[in-house]
Amino acid sequence: QPTAAKEKTYVFGTDVTYAPFEFADKNNKYVGIDIDLINAIAKEEGFKVVVKPLGFNAAVQALEAKQIDGVIAGMTITPERSAKFDMSIPYYPTGPVAAVAKGSAIKSMKDLRGKRVAIKTGTAAADYANSIKKKYGFSTVTFDDSNNMYQDVATGNSVACFDDQPVLQYAIATGEKLHILAKPTTVKYYGVALNKGRKDDLAAKVNAGIRKTKKDGTYNKIVAKYLGNGT
Ligand code: GLN
Repeated sequence: QPTAAKEKTYVFGTDVTYAPFEFADKNNKYVGIDIDLINAIAKEEGFKVVVKPLGFNAAVQALEAKQIDGVIAGMTITPERSAKFDMSIPYYPTGPVAAVAKGSAIKSMKDLRGKRVAIKTGTAAADYANSIKKKYGFSTVTFDDSNNMYQDVATGNSVACFDDQPVLQYAIATGEKLHILAKPTTVKYYGVALNKGRKDDLAAKVNAGIRKTKKDGTYNKIVAKYLGNGT
């Protein structure tokens, strides 16, 4: 038997559904930009990875409780998260937007006054919605995953929802009957989250892996696989 060191296995939590970053395909296999990216990083850096679709907020909580090694889930790098977690270098641009049902009478944030708006627990878009809800006078109802949140808008229970632009764009392109109200007012980036103060070199490996996959074209191939070249 060769004496090569056994590769370590790390467990990453992800969202249940956040296409094109993570979602179950027709065969119920988890695919998406994040899934391919973390697998490419692991291959490049010589470790094994198990990805668990826990749901976004549950994944972040599992990381905080040190039940898993990391989160890759279209997770926006924010100052609050950088204070709490070891966030990787950025990989994909994003920003929160509001979406309404196709053909809705809601044309701008001002039309949200007195109305019910759907948000997703623990997300940057929910924080954004909460930061402007007083100003625009809407109330909120929370969901644990994006699909249920979109359904609440599609069925007319809520008049709008807040989520990340690239995810809503993909949902609309793949048949969700929604319409985005306006461009995001801020641009942030997705990053991989780990706990601070790990004794191993996983954080360095994740960053090195992101850099290498971006440099050698692997990253662009992954993005093109899910979004084509016209992103
Ligand atoms: N990008 C958002 C955040 O980081 C939402 C992530 C998600 O819902 N998977 O909060």
